[in-house]
Amino acid sequence: MNVLLLGSGGREHALAWKLAQSPSLATLIAIPGNPGIAEHARCLDSIPLTDHDAIVTVCAAEKIDLVVVGPEAPLVDGIADRLIAEGINVFGPGRAAAQLEGSKLFTKELCRQHDIPTAAFGRFSQAEAARDFVRRRGAPIVLKADGLMAGKGVVVAMTLDEALAAVDEVFAMGDAGTEILIEEYLEGEEVSFFCLVDGETVLPFGSAQDHKRAFDGDQGPNTGGMGAYSPAPVFTAEMERRTLAEIVKPTARALADGGSPYRGVLFAGLMITLDGPKLIEYNVRFGDPECQVLLMRLEGDLLEVLHATATGTLADERVSMAPDAAITVVMAARGYPGSYEKGTPIKGVAAAGGLPGVHVFHAGTRLEGERLVANGGRVLNVTAIGANVAEARERAYDAVALIDWPQGFCRSDIAWRALAE
Ligand code: ATP
Repeated sequence: MNVLLLGSGGREHALAWKLAQSPSLATLIAIPGNPGIAEHARCLDSIPLTDHDAIVTVCAAEKIDLVVVGPEAPLVDGIADRLIAEGINVFGPGRAAAQLEGSKLFTKELCRQHDIPTAAFGRFSQAEAARDFVRRRGAPIVLKADGLMAGKGVVVAMTLDEALAAVDEVFAMGDAGTEILIEEYLEGEEVSFFCLVDGETVLPFGSAQDHKRAFDGDQGPNTGGMGAYSPAPVFTAEMERRTLAEIVKPTARALADGGSPYRGVLFAGLMITLDGPKLIEYNVRFGDPECQVLLMRLEGDLLEVLHATATGTLADERVSMAPDAAITVVMAARGYPGSYEKGTPIKGVAAAGGLPGVHVFHAGTRLEGERLVANGGRVLNVTAIGANVAEARERAYDAVALIDWPQGFCRSDIAWRALAE
């Protein structure tokens, strides 16, 4: 099969690495790709992901059998609808189903209609009504507004004053159509759970936990993710069974019944509460860096299962994950998630990747001639597998120690929660 992979991060490097192991793969092309992806694929780095016409042209010229979409933006933009209209198989949902990630209200209403466990919520377009609700419910309480709140979509308010101030802020900044979602605060441990969905069939693809804050001890600003590990110990077989039955399968059924069947990976952000799993949010793509740890554990042929997902034949497939643990440590440019320097040289990646059980996935890198340099905030994902979390972690940090990049930093406590359990 000829495959086109869209994206340029560590997630897509991991996908390219695993796709390249498939006996069914003939050609792998990536748009735009990165230097790590280029080890496995031909990268067409001058085509922007927003240029759907150019992507379709590449598919025709290269006789592409499957397009694998890494990030969410092209999905929310309707790339899957366009490719399907052209008769091209695509791993990733259409625009309508991608609303699961694109619109918090869409997901909450779907949960309400189908009794899917999630935080109780109210939606408000008037500041006074929102303030009344907050006063009645008390704190802690969670406020969500798409695209508002000074760049932060979500405020978890631990006091009533904080919650009332957040309401005022949203309505002061918003326009006449502003709507705010106010949610019950869920107490528990967060887990990311991934399923392949081909419209009808739902196949579990593993669990992971990530680390959103920039610094050790979960301190500092929120980031795109500073590390992850898989599996998540809190996500027992019983929790997985309940999540499939109560959350993911009813969601897939609701979308199929509504005429927009979901095809791709469905990433459920869950809170494991005393009452069981509750949905916090859906994402319509693999997590980055969670994908890297899932694929380290995946046994078998990634291309076959992604193709089956895209073509509605997942019922014939099985996915098996090694019982081992995998962890990934994100190396980021100093200053990230604020401003940081680009173009700083990185050495030692090959030595680090040569250690047993270790792969170094590229996220924001660039080649300057022969020299590898940093080209983004999150730059490398040093990923390792081991018999247990402790072994995987030791391997990953041994590899980090071999990377010579004075302008980079990473957290030193990835997987602390799994080791504490
Ligand atoms: P991201 O995509 O970065 O996860 P987002 O803007 O899509 O963020 P959510 O995922 O809905 O927003 O929420 C962000 C974080 O806020 C969650 O990961 C969780 O830690 C916390 N959170 C959200 N909703 C609740 C809730 N009802 N109770 C407790 N914590 C919550």
